[in-house]
Amino acid sequence: AKDNGRGCFAYFSEDLTIAVRERIALEVRLRKAIKQQELRVFYQPQMDIASGRIVGAEALVRWQDPVEGLIPPCRFIPIAEETNLIVEIGEWVLRETCRQGRQWLNMGLPPLTLAVNVSPHQFRRSDINALVATVLRDTGFPAGQLELEITESGLMENQDKTTNILNSLHAQGVHLAIDDFGTGYSSLTYLKHFPLDVLKIDKSFIDDIPHNKDDMEIAATIVAMGHILGFKVLAEGVETLEQLAFLQEQSCDLYQGYLKSHPLPADDFVALLQANDSS
Ligand code: C2E
Ligand code: CA
Ligand code: CA
Ligand code: CA
Repeated sequence: AKDNGRGCFAYFSEDLTIAVRERIALEVRLRKAIKQQELRVFYQPQMDIASGRIVGAEALVRWQDPVEGLIPPCRFIPIAEETNLIVEIGEWVLRETCRQGRQWLNMGLPPLTLAVNVSPHQFRRSDINALVATVLRDTGFPAGQLELEITESGLMENQDKTTNILNSLHAQGVHLAIDDFGTGYSSLTYLKHFPLDVLKIDKSFIDDIPHNKDDMEIAATIVAMGHILGFKVLAEGVETLEQLAFLQEQSCDLYQGYLKSHPLPADDFVALLQANDSS
């Protein structure tokens, strides 16, 4: 296994036997981790670009292993996807985020949009509509404050079925975002058939702004066409003030990134929110 520098490991073919054994071991541990409640949700703020205000957060799962410490999702989400454990994890993240969101409302915090990632497997192999309805009812979190993030590739898999599922979710009042936009095969014009609210420009188009003129043109085009199609556009992975200034010039609506904050535990997120509001 080779460390790719982000605490994640990429396997090469000569390591295959080890890789398979490690994966099985990890799967067993992951099942146990779910039972023993070792998963956590971190929250990364999403800002309105024009006002700078925090208007929402993306919920991102972490695994708090008693021995290894905090394990990032890239170490276990891919395995969870292969083993279908992602359905269970996804349900837990949705429920925990809505529970937390309801608690924040009860504490008197301003209403925030909370965005939860939905894996393509949850689309294909589970009834996401029934789950969302149940969780919203159980937690009392308002549907209009919940956003589901679906990757572009996830949307393109079975377009008729996807359209039905998205229409039903939208009818519940839930907001829908397309994640990692620009990395898949969809054309912007096709997207108008889906009831989407937000386009998230993939971080890879933001990274090299202002040095890469192609990326700047692509990002600007996504913002402009997203607006023509009636979507709000959010830029992910914003790390510098130059990137933010460029996006502001393009009238991009929202941003998210290390420039403002890493994903934070719930308490730290609330502290940031309160500091931000009083400044
Ligand atoms: P994603 O949905 O594209 O989430 C954004 C990722 O980019 C997060 O990584 C976030 O920490 C990172 N990020 C945000 N701003 C910046 C920035 O300015 N610079 C850099 N370098 N990175 C930034 P994270 O939390 O490690 O999550 C990685 C991926 O794991 C997510 O990518 C998503 O695909 C998956 N994931 C995380 N939580 C869940 C979950 O609950 N369910 C599912 N199905 N997938 C999840
Ligand atoms: Ca996401
Ligand atoms: Ca993304
Ligand atoms: Ca991603």
